[in-house]
Amino acid sequence: MSTQNVTPPTAREPGRPVARRTRTFRPNYLSFAGTYQCNLSCPHCCVPIEWTDRLDIPTALRFLEQAHEAGIEVLGFTGGEPFLYPEFVIALTKRAAELGFRFDKLMSNGVWHTDAKHLTRVLTKLREAGFSGKLGLSVDKFHGMDIAKLAEYCRVARKVFARDTILSLSYASKSPDKGLEPIQRLAKELDAVIEWSDLLKHYLLVSDDFTMTLNWNHLATVERAEGLGGADPWDGTWFQEDYCEGPGQALIVNPKGEVKPCCGFASDLDQLTIGNVHTDTVEEIIRNARKHPYVGTVFRKGLTAIRDEILARDPDALPGATSNHCYFCWYVLTRGLADGVNGGGGKVGKWTGDRANHTGKLIQLGVRRA
Ligand code: SF4
Ligand code: SF4
Repeated sequence: MSTQNVTPPTAREPGRPVARRTRTFRPNYLSFAGTYQCNLSCPHCCVPIEWTDRLDIPTALRFLEQAHEAGIEVLGFTGGEPFLYPEFVIALTKRAAELGFRFDKLMSNGVWHTDAKHLTRVLTKLREAGFSGKLGLSVDKFHGMDIAKLAEYCRVARKVFARDTILSLSYASKSPDKGLEPIQRLAKELDAVIEWSDLLKHYLLVSDDFTMTLNWNHLATVERAEGLGGADPWDGTWFQEDYCEGPGQALIVNPKGEVKPCCGFASDLDQLTIGNVHTDTVEEIIRNARKHPYVGTVFRKGLTAIRDEILARDPDALPGATSNHCYFCWYVLTRGLADGVNGGGGKVGKWTGDRANHTGKLIQLGVRRA
């Protein structure tokens, strides 16, 4: 379940809570993807779900403890489908609860279980391990999932956790009021309705049993989905500078142990690797990120500084303006337009491997390891 991806990609929520709002990389959020593998194969997926790498539990626990010592307080899970590696999620949850972490979302596709009994068993273990966050579900036309099975997931989760707010939904579309049809089908199956909340500025799915917030993700067809067509991401409006505070200020660990600074969907690119949990400590990774020619600039000066530098060098370097931050990020990185980092860098699709950057050179950053 890619938040990036998918999951990925997340909408631009406000910045995460931090002690001091200084312009530098100072993460307060940790997320693990223990496995790339998934029981679905969504056409737009950015995750290399064919890859069999798994993050081993002792290494992840060590990194979790270092993050706690570094003052990081919030934990989430993503994938692939996290529940295809349940022992990982349970072990990390148990230790995080002992350390006093707050839990964010565990993103799942909600249709990985064989039956209600299997689902009840796994979710009960998660509850008993101390999980107090939300179960996030991506429900949109790209996920093309079995709505009856998804409704079963929702009902069992509600029962096991005894919370009407246990679930939250994500959907990717061109605008927040578009692409709600699959969620409407789920609402019908759950005897619920979809309502707009003026207070929260989100749609909600509500019934006697459920209160689920709907989180919109700005759709952009990248990586595997680049050939699918869809709306032109160069929509003529420039993104609002937010220093990537919402999806960023994070340590996102993938199954190879690579660490990324955000859960924006371009973070799957190699150029946004800031370290590896097998070889680097949390402190070293934060230092790497601050010195990183691209990541350091994003959190210190913003994406607009990167855009302005590219356009000052070549006014025709970009096809237009885009309101989608992560699409801009993905475009300039894959095409090698940003200073100090190579082009290419994708995991799936047309942009895998290193490509020279705009200077014509291949650059060795020294933070990427196998
Ligand atoms: S649910 Fe779909 S988008 Fe998410 S990881 Fe699986 S295949 Fe990719
Ligand atoms: S724009 Fe780039 S750095 Fe910012 S959240 Fe998106 S992928 Fe991450």
